Amino acid sequence: MAQAPAGVSRGASGSLPSLGDNLELAAGAERRIGDRIAASIYRDPDYIDDPVLGDYVQTIWQPLMTAAKARGELNPELAERFAWELFLLRDRSINAFALPGGYFGVHLGLIGAVSSRDELAAVLGHELSHVTQRHISRLITQQARMTPWVIGAMILGALAASKSPQAAEAAIMGGQAVAVQSQLNFSRDMEREADRVGFGVMTDAGFDSRGVGSMFEKLQQASRINDNGSFPYLRSHPLTTERIAEAQARLQLASQNAPARSKAELEESAQARFLHAMMAARARVLADPGVDALRAMVAEAQRQTSAAQATSFEIRNAGVLYAGALAAAKLRDFTLARSLTEKLRTLASGNAHALNTAGLLSLELDLLAGVVPAAVSRIDISKAASRAELLLQARALLAAGRAQEVGDRLLTWVTAHPRDAAAWQLLAVAYGNQNQNVRAIRADAEGRAAQLDYNGALDRLRAAQAMIRSNPGSADFVEGSIIDARTRQLDSLVKEQALQDKLDR
Ligand SMILES: [Zn+2]
Repeated sequence: MAQAPAGVSRGASGSLPSLGDNLELAAGAERRIGDRIAASIYRDPDYIDDPVLGDYVQTIWQPLMTAAKARGELNPELAERFAWELFLLRDRSINAFALPGGYFGVHLGLIGAVSSRDELAAVLGHELSHVTQRHISRLITQQARMTPWVIGAMILGALAASKSPQAAEAAIMGGQAVAVQSQLNFSRDMEREADRVGFGVMTDAGFDSRGVGSMFEKLQQASRINDNGSFPYLRSHPLTTERIAEAQARLQLASQNAPARSKAELEESAQARFLHAMMAARARVLADPGVDALRAMVAEAQRQTSAAQATSFEIRNAGVLYAGALAAAKLRDFTLARSLTEKLRTLASGNAHALNTAGLLSLELDLLAGVVPAAVSRIDISKAASRAELLLQARALLAAGRAQEVGDRLLTWVTAHPRDAAAWQLLAVAYGNQNQNVRAIRADAEGRAAQLDYNGALDRLRAAQAMIRSNPGSADFVEGSIIDARTRQLDSLVKEQALQDKLDR
């Protein structure tokens, strides 16, 4: 008889329940598989921690999480034990996927292709529901002959395969075809359940349910033109006639019950679409579309006229100008990038979020140009209101030699957000610039630990200990004690992990 993977709960008699039982993988075991996958994604060159897009996606993700909890779809235990973390991936294809343990992948291609935050919420709400409904755990349990370690390796293999045809071929040659096929392939019933639950979650979170309809239309159109590989989402989420019919029925019901929207709501929605156009443009540029595509974006932005136009044109132009400015900067034409950003700021006047985002773009352009930002004298980093603002301002102030201010503010931030690797890395630079080398090494270590690289973190903590031993004046007593305690902690974590790895193999 096949051995159950570690962590799979057995029936009361201790025997393995048969397939079809409502068997779920224990949350802790699923999280461990997820952590292994996450540790590799952090090292993947296509993983991108872009604070601006990251903040934007969070403004969609957090309301979905809150709604899922309020509706009882996401129970407190799972909320606590899973990571609920989104990975942005530099990939032009249109895809988003759920991984074990509450990790999610979102391709920049998806953000660049959706026309509104509501469409993005429709996709993310659906993926979130696959996890809250424990679909992943049921799929893993069905692979009863495979150990958690093999399942993790298999999912990573499939992720690599989805990127490169060669890797896919290698996986198939290795007899993994079935595995690659079946991993994360939800059943039709699971898809329908994720549609139903996801719809409730996204509408409760305050998103416009029509986003579901327009997303389905987009996918349907793509499937008619037949999938050329840029829509992997379609392969993992086939549009069955049932799914489409059910979505239409839900939408009809929602539109009957929806009150007419007020003028203020319409205005708010136009502002949200304006900001979305800018963020979708950013995703398209950061997805590395190649020099020709960047040039085309610049050319389109230059053709754009500033004459007064209808709202829909303004929204479209916001995206065109944002893409043009960032693309020009990537092509190192900073003069043009700045003038396009100025046009964008004029267009954004009256829209606070969009103006703020355009302001961050100006700061970013200066950093890309390698000049000390013009705005640096006006920055009060203690007032940074978002992660993107904090990290971009920190980089600007470091360029201006204000490392101490940066260090103080980042220390407060990482105390509240200890898993923020980018903030730890900047803090390491701030300490280094002040010749506080032991602290710099420790911040670097924490950055690695935040990305689940415990061995890398330990290496650095031991280097810090060695530095203190050879030069006792290089750190104060408190810093030395923290480093010793963290070394012991991570050391036992690494040992625990090695033991668990053995059990999971
Ligand atoms: Zn799905």
